[in-house]
Amino acid sequence: MNGTCWALGIWVRNLSLNWIHPDKKRENYMKTIGFNDLIINKIKELEKLSRILEPGQSQRDKWDSEVLNYSNTFINKLDTTKAYYYSEEKGEDIYNLDITEQATELSTLLESTTENIDEVGINPASGGHMGYIPGGGLYPSALGDYIAAINNRYAGVFFTAPGAVRLENMLIRWMCRLMGFPENAIGNLTSGGSIANLIAIVTAREAYNIKALDIDKSVIYLSEQAHHSIQKAIRIAGLSEANLRYIPLDEGLRISVNELEKAIIEDKENGLIPFFINASFGTTNTGAIDPIEAIATIAKKYKLWFHVDAAYGGFFKLVSEMSIHFKGVEKADSITLDPHKTLFLPFGTGTILIKNKEAILKAHHYLADYMQDTTDANEEISPADISPELTKHFRGMRLWLPLKLFGLKPFRAALEEKLHLARYFYDEIQKMKGFKVGPEPDLSVAIFRYIPENEDVNSFNKKLIQAIQKDGRIFLSSTTINGIFWIRVAVVIFRTHIKQMDLLLKIIKEKLGELSN
Ligand SMILES: *Cc1c(COP(=O)(O)O)cnc(C)c1O
Repeated sequence: MNGTCWALGIWVRNLSLNWIHPDKKRENYMKTIGFNDLIINKIKELEKLSRILEPGQSQRDKWDSEVLNYSNTFINKLDTTKAYYYSEEKGEDIYNLDITEQATELSTLLESTTENIDEVGINPASGGHMGYIPGGGLYPSALGDYIAAINNRYAGVFFTAPGAVRLENMLIRWMCRLMGFPENAIGNLTSGGSIANLIAIVTAREAYNIKALDIDKSVIYLSEQAHHSIQKAIRIAGLSEANLRYIPLDEGLRISVNELEKAIIEDKENGLIPFFINASFGTTNTGAIDPIEAIATIAKKYKLWFHVDAAYGGFFKLVSEMSIHFKGVEKADSITLDPHKTLFLPFGTGTILIKNKEAILKAHHYLADYMQDTTDANEEISPADISPELTKHFRGMRLWLPLKLFGLKPFRAALEEKLHLARYFYDEIQKMKGFKVGPEPDLSVAIFRYIPENEDVNSFNKKLIQAIQKDGRIFLSSTTINGIFWIRVAVVIFRTHIKQMDLLLKIIKEKLGELSN
């Protein structure tokens, strides 16, 4: 037996040697050696050129110091720079730096960044930015992004980057604990709240097995104040033919629970398939919190998927006095959070938390032949299995670094400060003659408008906000609710303090004077 194997081995070896060097082929091979040298020279030449892509330490030091200089100047100036830069050119000189064969000095690029990007439009790093829902951009997140870009961990799949995936899942489990979700709930660090809402909707669609033929019978419940990313997600999820029920609101612009229940009963009676309720924990317009606990009860009673969009409001859970408002959030099927809002991260990090593991996998899990090595020994769920992404930025680093470097205490303080600042503004603006306010803020957004004596109210307030924006020291945005034009003040950025609120009140007074003359 052994003898046979040995003989077979010799035969195979000869066969392979013959195959590589038969006389004829050998002759041809010798002829190509000259050509081969050419190829090798070419490769070496290309290597020399492409090695520019790996700058040495002295080049890196030079660039590092230029970028650090830029970032220090940017941050140190924030106290005096504007929140909004009005500009006719709108940064069009950036076109002078289109891509060419030539290399350009970093200093040129940084100068143009300052001129055409940083000093144009809204400055979302500024404490004076109180438009939309801002966040600010914590410094350690920039370091986290830097580290993640250097080590370039493949954080989409547990097999390829087990430590990175563990870190991200650890952050998810922390957020689950914060929201009262079980630790075995599933979660994903997304690029933002919109993708988080999309994951929730496609997962609910799979959980309720909504097929093409069921779509026009299925019903989704939401309010006019729901964030538009919900409607967008419904469309992307292929559910545009579903029935959208906009539930009437109470005077605080919160979903009316009685109306919600009435609508569900009626839809069921008509043979429709109610399957999804979206509640907002802090609407973008006014920060209103829908009655979460009562909606949770209804969702359970009628067996609907209950989604809480807490993209803006979720992290206020860190403020202990706010805990009471979160009652019922733990009963949700899914929650959207947005660390790039109320955890003050730079843009690019949202979160979805979902209890139903089977459904989220059913919607997103896919196994490719070329990834067969990645399926063994998976102690942790892979981000790629539960989101539309495969290759992704290692987002965990930009979230973990600030939370660990600072600890939670300053986050709790900053969020509580924002709640007080919004109320401070709400009280102070009412002391000024002629101003009306919207509902008392549930969170850190307040709305107001001026009632002029003999001018159209909406058009006057439009002029007022344009004047505030053009001034630029503070940036505010506006909204329309039931046909009424309101100016919004959203106190969210960690750099916003009482100084900015007083400046805002002063600017409003100033602009009012200018407009009245
Ligand atoms: C901001 C916001 C979103 C969308 O999140 P992005 O991070 O901008 O994609 C969704 N819902 C609410 C309530 C929001 O405030």
